[in-house]
Order: sequence, then structure tokens, then C-alpha cells
Amino acid sequence: MGEPLVFEKSAPGRKGYSLPDLDVPEVPIAELMPAEYLRKDPPLLPELSEVDVVRHFTNLSRDNYGIDQGFYPLGSCTMKYNPKVNEDVARFAGFAALHPLQPVAQTQGALQLLYQLEAALREITGMDRVTLQPAAGAQGELVGVLMIRAYHRSNGNPRRKVIVPDAAHGTNPATATLAGYQVQVVHSNAEGLVDLDDLKRLVDQDTAALMLTNPNTLGLFERNILKISELLHGVGALLYLDGANLNALLGLCRPGDMGFDVVHSNLHKTFTTPHGGGGPGAGALGVKSFLAPFLPVPVVEKTENGFVLDDRRPQSIGKVQAFYGNFGNLVRAYTYIRRMGAIGFRKVSTNAILNANYIRKRLEPVYPVPFNRFCMHEFVASAKKFRNRDVHAWDIAKRLIDYGMYPPTVNFPMIVDEALMIEPTETEPKENLDRFCEAMLRIAKEIEEDPGLVQKAPHTRSVTRLDEIRAVKELNLRWRPA
Ligand SMILES: *Cc1c(COP(=O)(O)O)cnc(C)c1O
Repeated sequence: MGEPLVFEKSAPGRKGYSLPDLDVPEVPIAELMPAEYLRKDPPLLPELSEVDVVRHFTNLSRDNYGIDQGFYPLGSCTMKYNPKVNEDVARFAGFAALHPLQPVAQTQGALQLLYQLEAALREITGMDRVTLQPAAGAQGELVGVLMIRAYHRSNGNPRRKVIVPDAAHGTNPATATLAGYQVQVVHSNAEGLVDLDDLKRLVDQDTAALMLTNPNTLGLFERNILKISELLHGVGALLYLDGANLNALLGLCRPGDMGFDVVHSNLHKTFTTPHGGGGPGAGALGVKSFLAPFLPVPVVEKTENGFVLDDRRPQSIGKVQAFYGNFGNLVRAYTYIRRMGAIGFRKVSTNAILNANYIRKRLEPVYPVPFNRFCMHEFVASAKKFRNRDVHAWDIAKRLIDYGMYPPTVNFPMIVDEALMIEPTETEPKENLDRFCEAMLRIAKEIEEDPGLVQKAPHTRSVTRLDEIRAVKELNLRWRPA
């Protein structure tokens, strides 16, 4: 392991500051604070000098990898470049120093930003109202499905089933289950799209919704979307879009025009707020007007007297998040949207599609693509043929780290054996795409010549093969003295 824990570097009495001696009378601590609030034992904090601390965190950051260092084709996660102007704006004191309990009269600018961000997202998605409160894509999904449930209940019957494709992101079935629905799986057909016959078999009066991803997780556009929409609406069920990644649709088409009633979009993916390592996120959720009464409170509204937070919504599903969401993320997303505009967004999506197809065509002779058609912002190749050398998608991902690149998503979607899900994003120039393709092709050669090299990768990092199962099952993030 490279860098020790900050506690292991601690030495008694070491300090990160030096101050001149006190030249005023010292006030006893008991006079400053009631005794019941004073701790009995000092906290177990590491004792280090300033330079120790700076080096510790600098060294840790160098063991990390981020989009500011290089190529990051992590499929489905849309690791876009995060423009630095977003950071400047998020740090404006008028935004960064606001207290969430400040009176509305003093926060008109922040409320205006929320109001205008909602308007922009309505335009982009083709929805009638948007809530900015959910703090992640997964939470956006839960809010959306709870609203669907509230809607059906208001019609007399919440219904029992939510249909989810076999290619869906794991959060979709998890969301439907958490919202009290029974999950039914609709299968993909040979083209990698929703099997319409299978869907017809499942849809009935007890179907609350279908949760669909479009483009789906294979990177393919769901060509039958209008038929699917008709089928669902025909029985009074709703159509939910997992729009975590809108990178292929921006400025080209709108979920609202395809028949979707509800859509969440991850601002931390499509709208360039930095993410990774678990957050912070923002899962904006858009709905058609008939669902607006169920939106979580408060809702930002514009009145003659300025912007207000509207809490009086009797059919609301309630409150889903402290205050109004991850405001810093929302400022970044707003800045990005205002900078890009409609023309900019069209370039984003067409370049994302071009980049993904370029890599697909270069890699397909060596890395077969099971559903090999014109793709959207990502595609899924398979490493299955390397199994005879006992090399798996996972090993290829690890080997890419030695080439200085972040790996693609592996083993998802689950309908592709040994999946390598590749999403290059639109900001990468051709040279970077070529460098990635050449690394992938070289790794394929290495597998033939010396599979051990790939099986044991990475060789260049301070940590290599982490026990991820144990990390999840025995989550232990806290240091305790020996
Ligand atoms: C990332 C992602 C999600 C979940 O979003 P989180 O912000 O991680 O909760 C859901 N669906 C798809 C397709 C995604 O890529």
C-alpha cells in the first residue's frame, strides 16, 4: 500500500499551526460553555504538522484517477469533462454562503436559478414540471414511482406491477420494489430491443408502469417506442424513462414527445457536475402535467411578488430531501446549460454518438459486439472469446489501468456475456479515441501471447485486485485505536 492512514502518521504533540503566546487574560472554558456540553475525554484526532497533512492528501489524490487526468469511458456513468466555469459560479458567495433557512425574501436569486433550471430541463426533456430535489438518479426513480403510485391511488387503485426490461440498470427493479410494486421482467429480442410480444403478454390492468431506458443500456435506440407507449397507455399504465444519461438525445429529440410520462435525469452525468466515489448527485425528475399535483414539496413558483416556495399541495407525496436538493450541483448544471444552449447541445449529442460509433467500428473485428448496430452514446462489446485463455472482461479492465486509462463498465448489462460497456463522451478528440482503441487491441494481443500479464494487472498501481465483495459485506470505514 502506498500512503499510510493519517492516524498512522500521527505523532503526539505535533501541530498544524503556530501562534504567538496569549497576551490577554485566559477565560476559563467553564465560563464559556455549560459543563454538560463539555466532553470528558479529548477526541481521538491525528496530530500532524501542516506539511504532513498537505502531503498526505496530495499523495492520496495522486493515487486517484479522474476525468481531469485522462480518458474515462465508463459506460452508463457518462463521465464528462466538468467545465471549470461551473466551479467559479458555484463558488459565488451569493450561492455558496446562503443558508437554507434564510428567508425567501433574501434568496430570490437562488430561487430564480431553481426556477430557470426547471424551465430549461422542461424544454430539454419535453416535460411539464420538474422537481430538482432528488439527490441521485436512484432517488429520482423512487420519487417518480411513488408519484406514479399516488396517481393510480387517486384513481382508486394503486395497481400491483411494474415492468422492467432485462437490460435495465439495477436501480430500476430496486426502485419498483421499494415503492411496493411487484417487478416483472420483459425480455430483450434478438435485436437488443424490448420484445413486443413479451411485453403484450405482461401488460394488463394491474400494470402501474414500464420503466424503460432509451437509448437502452446496450446503447440502442428503442425504435418501437411509440408502439410501446400506446400499449402502456391503452391500459392506463404510465411510461417511465430512466434518463440518467441523456447524452445522445440532447437537442435532437425529447422524451416527452416519445410518450414518456415521467423521466429522471442525472445532472451529475449529462449536465457535468463532478461525480464519482458516491456523490454528490442530483436526479432531476420531470413529469407531465397530470402528475404535477403529486410533486414533492416545496415547489418553486413565480408570483407577482417574486419567487416563493409552495408547500400547500395536498396531493404531494411529501418531502423527499432536506431543503431543496443538492444546490451546488444545481448551480453547476444551470451554468452548463446556459453556456451550451440548443446548438451546443446538438453538438454534444452528435459528437457523443460519433465517438461511440468510431470506437465500435475500430474494435469490432477483435472485440465482438453482440447487438452490432448503429449505436447512440455508448455500446457494449463482449470479451467472451478470451475465456479460452482464462481472461475475463474484468482482467481487460484492470490492464487498461496500466495504459493510463480508466476502464469501461464491465459485466453490465447482464444480457451480454463478459460485457465491456464503452462510453467515450463527446469532449474526447479523435487522438484519445485512437489511443484507447490501440490499447484495447494491444491487450487482445497480450492475451494471446502472455495471458498472465493481463490476469495479474494492474502492475503500476499501489493497490491491485481489491476484494470488492468483502468491502461491501464488511463495510468498515472507521479507524479505531489498536
Ligand atoms: C447511473 C444510473 C442510474 C442511477 O443513478 P445514481 O445517481 O447513481 O443513483 C440509473 N440508471 C442508469 C441507466 C444509470 O446509468
